[in-house]
Amino acid sequence: MFQVIKKIIQYPRVTQDYPAKPFDTSLTSGKPVIHSEKCTACGECVTRCPSGAIVENVDTNTLEINDNACIFCVLCSEVCPHGAIEITGEFELAQMTYEELGTQLKKKIEKRFGRSLQIREVDSGSCNGCDYEINALNNPFNDIERFGIHFVASPRHADMLLVTGTATRNMELALLKTYEAAPNPKLVAAVGACACSGGIFQDSYAAKNGIDTVLPVDVYIPGCPPRPQAILYGILKAIDRL
Ligand code: SF4
Ligand code: SF4
Repeated sequence: MFQVIKKIIQYPRVTQDYPAKPFDTSLTSGKPVIHSEKCTACGECVTRCPSGAIVENVDTNTLEINDNACIFCVLCSEVCPHGAIEITGEFELAQMTYEELGTQLKKKIEKRFGRSLQIREVDSGSCNGCDYEINALNNPFNDIERFGIHFVASPRHADMLLVTGTATRNMELALLKTYEAAPNPKLVAAVGACACSGGIFQDSYAAKNGIDTVLPVDVYIPGCPPRPQAILYGILKAIDRL
């Protein structure tokens, strides 16, 4: 017992300071950015992108990347013959729907949640990559409970649903029932490219193109999978605490 206590005391503090301090992204990859001045519109990246995330903006006649579909595979950067695509470390990509923006949001959230937030995680047909990252939110490195955010076992106790996966046909009813079981008012966060847009499973016969085809979504958290900090950013953004 003494040895265990000694080991605990000697173990260094591992919990990171994000979001109070910036997260070191030097060893991670994030949002790809197209430098239009170098792009010749050869179309190589459009053809090779596995999730069809690169689209043409017909107004500006330039290529753009849809963050909700991008799986951050960095293939576009590798195949571009002109070096026009840069892989940045940007991961704070969560976006709110327009309805939730503005000053009304803060009042609504404070009224909804008071001082803590209860989350129910729902896998609607993911590869489990996103779920592993959500699990990592509870490890000592991320320690999400320091923000007063707790995961609960039942949707009946949840203020927010964190949904991963594309909403496969087999999981669609379960997802709807989970949503209906959560008490009003409730928030829904789509976690990962699959939940945001269908990701690499877009237009599959077995799945929907994103969970907003089944449920109203309040915040979209892109990535494949989004790293824990990106999910945390999305949750905090959803409850307007950043
Ligand atoms: S990183 Fe991959 S998924 Fe994202 S735009 Fe580039 S090729 Fe497409
Ligand atoms: S977004 Fe990527 S990691 Fe997440 S469930 Fe889909 S394929 Fe898996």
